[in-house]
Amino acid sequence: MKINEIGEFGLIGRIAERFKSLIPQGWEGIGDDCAVIPWGNDRSLAVTTDLLVENVHFLRERITPYDLGYKSLAVNLSDVAAMGAKPVATFLSLGLPAGTVGVEWCDAFFEGYRSFGVPLLGGDTTSSPEGIVINITVLGLAENWRIKRRNAARAGDLIAVTGPLGDSAAGLQAILQHLPPDADTEELIRRHHCPRPHLAEGEWLGAQESVRAMMDVSDGVASDLLHILRASSLAATVRANDIPVSPLLRKTAARKGWDVLEMALAGGEDYVLLLTVDPAHINDLQKRFAERFGHPLYVIGECRTGDPEISYRDTASHFTGFKHF
Ligand code: ADP
Ligand code: MG
Repeated sequence: MKINEIGEFGLIGRIAERFKSLIPQGWEGIGDDCAVIPWGNDRSLAVTTDLLVENVHFLRERITPYDLGYKSLAVNLSDVAAMGAKPVATFLSLGLPAGTVGVEWCDAFFEGYRSFGVPLLGGDTTSSPEGIVINITVLGLAENWRIKRRNAARAGDLIAVTGPLGDSAAGLQAILQHLPPDADTEELIRRHHCPRPHLAEGEWLGAQESVRAMMDVSDGVASDLLHILRASSLAATVRANDIPVSPLLRKTAARKGWDVLEMALAGGEDYVLLLTVDPAHINDLQKRFAERFGHPLYVIGECRTGDPEISYRDTASHFTGFKHF
């Protein structure tokens, strides 16, 4: 059977099934943004790892080594933020085609990586026959009561995101279409290359009792929300008119004829947080969030009982997120 017949998540499901019986009591493995390992009595380690492959996740000629170092760590830190944890240590393994990657390239990569101020404690370095391969592992730490999981959503919960969606997908379009550089497309490309992991927001939301499920948006809300719905056995309604889109994306999409909603819901790589909130506390949470962070917490829909699927309002379209296979 070919992998694309079962897809990325079919394959991950097979792996999870095979290793389930080996996981110690109280540990949490495959299925959330991070694995959770008890660390003393009151705290846990949240551990995540991600792989970036040249020509799959980035084009070497189109991203500076500094930005690549930044983004490689940013996408991992985002998974730690998604659990409500704080990153404490990282490990980095690199596969480098020695003939085409120089020391200066590596130095700039490490500067971008270092910009978050999280220590690098080890890793591995090998040659690679062709493309650059980057694997990062991040360890986060959190008091147990703060940790948010994908399976904690309840029927009636409101669904929220911590920032606008679609800028990253638009930046990718600008790269792929080789758009002539102007201030707007360069800014969208910057948002694609340098997404800000919502670490402070994640830690703060982790401490809010009214927040139930949480994850980060890496593949697009259309597919990421389904992970929360499957883990929590719920359906959801998402209102297209409530999807937050930056003024820059709205303006650029109008000029280029891009489908804003498709970019916002199916594009991915925005690395904002997606969460569900007890509806009784949403006003208070939104108010305190805006006061604390200076930007809104956007409500985009709600959870309801039903099979895990999303119904879209205010649009006739249906959306799917990024697929690897
Ligand atoms: P994220 O986008 O949050 O990093 P993924 O969608 O990549 O999460 O992965 C979903 C879950 O599957 C995570 O818990 C991840 O650790 C696990 N996973 C993915 N690939 C593998 C693998 N090859 N072996 C074991 N677990 C995996
Ligand atoms: Mg994630």
